[in-house]
Amino acid sequence: MAKRDYYEVLGVSKNATEEEIKKAYRKIAMANHPDTHPDDKDAEERFKEASEAYEILSDKTKRANYDQFGFAGVEGGAGGYSNVYRDFSDLFSGSGFGGFSDIFDSFFGGGQSRSQARGPARGASLQYTVSISFHDAVFGTKVDVDYSHDDPCPSCGGSGGSGRSTCPTCHGSGQVTRGSGFFQMASQCPTCHGRGSVIDNKCPSCGGSGLTTKREKLSVTIPCGSADGTKLVLRGKGNAGANGGAPGDLVILVRVKDDKYFLRDERDIYLQVPISMTQAALGCEIEVPVVDGGKVRVSVPSGIQSGKQLRLKNRGVPAFRGSLDDRGDMYLVILVETPKRLGLKARKLMKELAEELGEDSSPTPVPFDK
Ligand SMILES: [Zn+2]
Ligand SMILES: [Zn+2]
Repeated sequence: MAKRDYYEVLGVSKNATEEEIKKAYRKIAMANHPDTHPDDKDAEERFKEASEAYEILSDKTKRANYDQFGFAGVEGGAGGYSNVYRDFSDLFSGSGFGGFSDIFDSFFGGGQSRSQARGPARGASLQYTVSISFHDAVFGTKVDVDYSHDDPCPSCGGSGGSGRSTCPTCHGSGQVTRGSGFFQMASQCPTCHGRGSVIDNKCPSCGGSGLTTKREKLSVTIPCGSADGTKLVLRGKGNAGANGGAPGDLVILVRVKDDKYFLRDERDIYLQVPISMTQAALGCEIEVPVVDGGKVRVSVPSGIQSGKQLRLKNRGVPAFRGSLDDRGDMYLVILVETPKRLGLKARKLMKELAEELGEDSSPTPVPFDK
């Protein structure tokens, strides 16, 4: 199932305030609470979905990343719902629910954070959308990409500071146990984020996170033959990893603008051209635009029927990253136009023509092409 937009999940607008987001989440979470809906898979889904949306939208940085890059901007970097956890008591105080946090942990605490604890974690991949013309998609182009990503802090080299001692909260295990009875679950330690140790002297530049936001400008080559929806992956150009993990990727999503006249189908290009009924009957030479720019001469055979296609070899689209000498074809779709208004002389000539050619007032039907 496709993932729903976080704003849509919470039913708030893109510029909702923090307070509106919190209220919306609280309402959904309470209405679908697992305590009051045991064995209700739909409620559980809604609850999880809303919690995830809230985790991202309640965090300024994650929300900004999501707004800019969509799901790719926040995937992998979600941090195990720790944010929701932190706001939890505040959010549900006075809600009348007991034991909620235990259940909450059972959904989001355990497995999620344990897998992220301690070890190197790969940085989040980011997505950047570029919009290019029909022509540039066919022949390739270069685009400037200007974006921001997490980078290791230059002052501390990503370590976050100097000196490490055992975390006072979890005593080095990286995990804390919450809840009681059935719902007792281990989750990532909120103090050290699973590392088991804390920094003694936090780096003043990054405040101990080991990360800084770096703005980067890249010139990215969009290969010839790119299609709408093509994704180009720039390895390691995403967010820096945590605990020595590899950086994520930068994914360039290529959107191709529609052309007013050219229509593309895989590697072929279609163009509709109107000609007059006399041109169709007698045959003619016409000039038509090609995607290369400029025009080419095409001879239209006499007696051509409306809707007939004429092929121009090698005037289509090259293979993705392929050779410009080996392209698909272009098809001219001929539209024979009937004159809408006839002057006196034209009408007279037309009548003579009709008499000359003869007219069938009981035409035999033509089967559809199937
Ligand atoms: Zn630093
Ligand atoms: Zn700890």
